[in-house]
Amino acid sequence: MFPQDALQCGKEQNLIRVISEYAAKRAAEIGAEKVFNFSIGNPNVPAPEIVTETLKEILNTVPPAQLHSYTPAPGLPWVRDAVAADLNLRYGTDYSAGDLYLTAGASAALAIVMKAVLLPGDEVIQFAPYYPEYAIYAAGFGGKVVTVGLRAGDFQIDLEALEAAINEHTRILVINCPNNPAGTIFTQETVTALADLLRKKQAEFGRPIYILADEPYRELVYDDNVTLPFIPNHYDNTIYTYSYSKCLSLPGERIGYILVPPKAAEHDDLYASICGAGRILGYLHINTLFQYMLPKVLDKTSDLSIYKNNRDLLCSELTKYGYEMAKPDGAFYLFVKSPEPDDYAFCERAKQFEVMLVPGTIFGYPGYVRLSYCVDTDTVRRALPAMEALMKTYTE
Ligand code: PLP
Repeated sequence: MFPQDALQCGKEQNLIRVISEYAAKRAAEIGAEKVFNFSIGNPNVPAPEIVTETLKEILNTVPPAQLHSYTPAPGLPWVRDAVAADLNLRYGTDYSAGDLYLTAGASAALAIVMKAVLLPGDEVIQFAPYYPEYAIYAAGFGGKVVTVGLRAGDFQIDLEALEAAINEHTRILVINCPNNPAGTIFTQETVTALADLLRKKQAEFGRPIYILADEPYRELVYDDNVTLPFIPNHYDNTIYTYSYSKCLSLPGERIGYILVPPKAAEHDDLYASICGAGRILGYLHINTLFQYMLPKVLDKTSDLSIYKNNRDLLCSELTKYGYEMAKPDGAFYLFVKSPEPDDYAFCERAKQFEVMLVPGTIFGYPGYVRLSYCVDTDTVRRALPAMEALMKTYTE
């Protein structure tokens, strides 16, 4: 016998990976150039050159015994200081090393926060469409998951629906901007109204409700007239998680952080609990080499213009073919309305055209599909005739 949650989670197939593996199989059978794998959010744009240069420099200059040693559990203090200074510069804040815990990407950060904060009976609210792993971590650490749908069309928060879902058990509200899978961003008005509502509810129930702001796509915002509110500046009880997987194209290196802003309720105990949760889960002193690299690349990103080009090309062409979607402001996903109500059936049909899409149902939003465009623009161009032919099977 094994714990039911772990057993079931291990046996359940992660559908995104199943589809992506199918794409790899098809590529081996018929040639990679004939297969359009839009299923997985694995950045195809290379990491910036400075990443390789810095890593080489570190390997050549830092004595091996030092470079390959354990660091303090939350990460090297001077690295956390550098991350804090970068945040302070960007957002006018006053963070320091003692507010930061370096993690193996956002996944570890999310798991640590759930473990650190949730008590038996606590509820975690997520918005749909959601990143499916939120529920895995929340439920895995004893939380009851409550899902509130975002408004159809603009994917902003339905404040009435959210208010109805909050009760004396609500402990965490997860928000994710730009959103995976919809690519949308909460407007300043939405964030202000959300913060007001949560403050009201905290006062009503007499305990903190934490926003868990999961923002691995923060740098992937494509239009100058769109700004992404920095949630900790609008709501004190924010725990902020970040990852360098997407902005620097380093998903395999597993590097990110948790920020506990000084104004968060019970800051010192919360930070201590995060350190303790990291210890309990074995998520501590992450990769030393990449810690050394971080201060040198904090203001760098991969060439994000490729994603913007892909987004613009796909939105304009797919709309011409008859697909419906909200133009995403960020991340590298399109959330497209399925031409038939059954999004699984549509994804199966897309496979006949060697186009790999992910059903919206796994993000809690049936009737849509996710198209991940973190691929090179040539792949997008070559996929367009297949996307057009696919739509014609519904319209002709
Ligand atoms: N959060 C969201 C919304 C994501 O889309 C992902 C990955 O795709 C993660 C968290 C986890 O990212 P990582 O663990 O690579 O940092």
